[in-house]
Amino acid sequence: MDLCSACTMPTHASKSNTSNTLLIILLPTKVIIWFKARKTPAHISNLPNRYEEKLGRTLPYHGPSAVTLGMNLSPSSLPIPNSFILKLLHRLLFYRTRPNKSSLFLTLRKRKFKIFMHTNSCSIQEISIFAPQTAFYFENRSPIEYSCPSMKTPKLHVKCFGCQMNKLDSSLVVTALRKKGFELCEKASQADVILINTCSVRKHAEDRVTSNLGHMKHLKKTRPKIVVAVVGCMAQRVGEDLLEHDAVNIVAGPSHIPQVPEMIMNALPKDVADAATGSKAISVTEKIRQKTDSQVSQELDDFELTYDSDENHIKHQAFVRAMRGCNNFCTYCIVPYVRGPETSRPPQAIIEQIKKLAQNGIQQITLLGQTIDAYHYEAGDKTYRLADLLEMVADIESIKWIHFITSHPGKFDTAIFQAMANNRKVTPYLHIPAQSGSDRILRAMNRGYTAQQYLDLISEARQIVPDVAIASDFIVGFPGETDEDYQATKNLITDAHFKNSFIFKYSPRPGTHATKRLEDNVPAEVKKQRNIELLELQNSIAEEDNKRFKGRTLEVLVEGLSPRPHLNNADTQTLADGSAATDESWQHPQLIARTAHDYIVVFNGPESLAGNFAKVEITDTAALTLFGRLKQS
Ligand code: SF4
Repeated sequence: MDLCSACTMPTHASKSNTSNTLLIILLPTKVIIWFKARKTPAHISNLPNRYEEKLGRTLPYHGPSAVTLGMNLSPSSLPIPNSFILKLLHRLLFYRTRPNKSSLFLTLRKRKFKIFMHTNSCSIQEISIFAPQTAFYFENRSPIEYSCPSMKTPKLHVKCFGCQMNKLDSSLVVTALRKKGFELCEKASQADVILINTCSVRKHAEDRVTSNLGHMKHLKKTRPKIVVAVVGCMAQRVGEDLLEHDAVNIVAGPSHIPQVPEMIMNALPKDVADAATGSKAISVTEKIRQKTDSQVSQELDDFELTYDSDENHIKHQAFVRAMRGCNNFCTYCIVPYVRGPETSRPPQAIIEQIKKLAQNGIQQITLLGQTIDAYHYEAGDKTYRLADLLEMVADIESIKWIHFITSHPGKFDTAIFQAMANNRKVTPYLHIPAQSGSDRILRAMNRGYTAQQYLDLISEARQIVPDVAIASDFIVGFPGETDEDYQATKNLITDAHFKNSFIFKYSPRPGTHATKRLEDNVPAEVKKQRNIELLELQNSIAEEDNKRFKGRTLEVLVEGLSPRPHLNNADTQTLADGSAATDESWQHPQLIARTAHDYIVVFNGPESLAGNFAKVEITDTAALTLFGRLKQS
């Protein structure tokens, strides 16, 4: 190895091409740790080569598989303590791998320190330190052995509240942290990092976050090193005030999700003193309604593209964001204020991501957008709408089912229904929230349609796609909702025959038009009563409608074991529909699956069916669930 006389850099890589190597280069005021891997994970190869820039020259290990980390030294910090070097090493290794048993042996040989590292999961075989005056730089020339106690696999616990957008954001952060060596854990008490993805749509969702933070505060009394990151809509809405909470280390809004993994890595305490200081960081957008600038958009898109496997989701199913934000300003809704303006992702980026997901076994895609039917992307003289996007996704051979949620009744165009009718990969399921059946309330909500227009829309959908299943959302107790308004909502539910409806009690959200201008004047008891009644009405209609499935055989995509653990074990001879088994089906646990129309189907079957399509004969039905028997093919 020759050293460059000007900067002490090695002038060529001396290590074998077949192993990962690590170089530590000591400059008079800087330490550079430099890693070269045979196969460097993307998260490392994407780190900026900032030291090359500073030096104004290309380092010998230049290339996509090299990464550098560095720390500045001041002359007073010399000689460099061994612990300092080892801390740097630890930091580097923490970034690239998850060794859970490792030790470093540091020995001095002439001008080179050699470090041999033994781990059970890291393939670095040799590490060399180069410096012109090694003795000067190090406090200790004798061999040391150093075991990194914190090189255990770091654990991540995730709590996710709210919509599918949040689930996707959580998955993106989980994917990035897995690549940095994290493993998911079930309990917050086992975690090194707790990620709380928040929702602001209802007060109840925010109250649950606040109560969770109380628990975290308690947890931190015994485990002060835990890093708590609060992200999502509530983080954007509450901002600095949330950061002041004793338990919280990181606050980041939905537009700042790409920064979250790095913020977490930086917040991880290096020692107990560090933990006691309790590092804090915030990343939210001050003027959220300003159009997302292209750099932020690009950053979000790049981050989105890292999500290309199904490791965090139901097997063989994935969410893919088509749009962000919302421009509708329904008077009760906080979303436009926390997720910013509507932005559609380029169709090419979406298709590229789905192709990667398909290569990794994904068969069902759910395109996400707050108002997905408003998807709009202009490229040259071509305008892409949702119908175009659906057709492009359908052209990907191994994708079998394509869902899209959520739609706004005022944004639909007939082409979407036609895409659904013409291509059976586009599943016949629509989620179109009506919110109310009263024109007066719909106006006060700024929804932009009347009850009749809503009914006309779903009637058009059923004409073009006769078997389409439609789900809706309703808010009861909106300011000023009278018995007459409420009756109009009941009428709409009766007429529409929804597959299911999500019914919520109105709760004022700070910052929204309704909170500022309208009095929350429907008593809590009345809201509760209306909520119960509407659910009963919806359930009775669905229960009756679902009877038509009895005796039919439906194709389902199996999600996995039933969420009811007592039914997961094959220890009963009673089947999912409550009947006694007459064949060997009882030997299998209860599985949960969905049809293309999004009906939930439960049946007994081998767990290995998870992620696969199956045929199930429906033997019984209820308002929200179909029960069946696996058809042997
Ligand atoms: S369409 Fe209305 S309810 Fe839906 S996210 Fe936008 S503002 Fe909120």
